[in-house]
Amino acid sequence: MKNSLVRKEYSPLVSDGNRRDTLKIAIQKSGRLYEDSVKLLKDCGIDLKNGLNRLKTEAENFPMEIYFLRDDDIPQYVEDAVAHIGIVGENIVFEKNKQVDIVEKLGFSKCRLSVAVGRNEKYEETSFLNNKRIATTYPLLVKQFLEKNKVQAEIHEISGSVEIAPGIGLSDAIVDLVSSGSTLFMNGLKEVETILESQAILIKNRELDKTRQQLLEKFLFRIRAVKKAKNNKYILLNAPNEKLKEIISLLPGMKSPTVLPLAEPGWSSVHSVLNENDFWDIIEKLKEAGAQGILVVPIEKMIV
Ligand code: ATP
Ligand code: MG
Repeated sequence: MKNSLVRKEYSPLVSDGNRRDTLKIAIQKSGRLYEDSVKLLKDCGIDLKNGLNRLKTEAENFPMEIYFLRDDDIPQYVEDAVAHIGIVGENIVFEKNKQVDIVEKLGFSKCRLSVAVGRNEKYEETSFLNNKRIATTYPLLVKQFLEKNKVQAEIHEISGSVEIAPGIGLSDAIVDLVSSGSTLFMNGLKEVETILESQAILIKNRELDKTRQQLLEKFLFRIRAVKKAKNNKYILLNAPNEKLKEIISLLPGMKSPTVLPLAEPGWSSVHSVLNENDFWDIIEKLKEAGAQGILVVPIEKMIV
């Protein structure tokens, strides 16, 4: 039902049989960004056609073509307008330093680019790195970091498995992506500096035509609704009428909470929206104030 409505709005072919203008998006072909990128499209109501082609596909119900690429290549493709927009980590965008615009932080694939040294080293400040060898796949970001801290060190650019470099005597320190730190730990390393906090972002070509810009705005409107929904929960609870005032004062809601009478006299049902960050705090206070039968449900989309 939902799909048929959307399809009516977009017919992929114009009368002369040519494809309508589509927004081309580049996402990672496989790896840590892939699943969340596809999920974001799905959450935005964009369904991908299943085909055997692992290089590109198209959306069934939105004028979009999806290109599957290595994440390192995405900024270049977007700069060249081979893809109009792309989803990639900030770490790659800043390292590749291409002429693209950042449109939106997407809130997934969070990690940091950090300096790590042997667990037993006495690292106190960046001057420790003077005259040391640093292995990394991020030569530009490391160079900028060293310059900013006035450190002279040798950068060894390698293409992967950076964490083993100190163990095999290739370097004294590394700069690599870290999330939990378990890879560093397993390789006898410790994290000593953070160069960059990173997450997945949406980037765009700098010279989009009007049609593409409009499609991007449509897509962005959906992304923001999805992001907002993720950070909020819908809450329903029962409250004795004499406690309503106190309970309502604890609930922000989108405008103000909805209050409906229950079949049982003297009781009301209160509905509202809560931000994930304040959630536990507020729930405790609601209970203390006399709320009962509290239900918390996820929100799929949120448009304010
Ligand atoms: P490709 O084959 O596309 O070049 P890759 O091996 O370079 O893939 P992945 O390991 O899949 O890249 O990581 C892709 C991106 O995911 C990174 O550039 C970074 O933004 C993010 N990322 C990396 N490590 C983590 C992590 N441990 N936790 C969360 N996100 C991460
Ligand atoms: Mg890569």
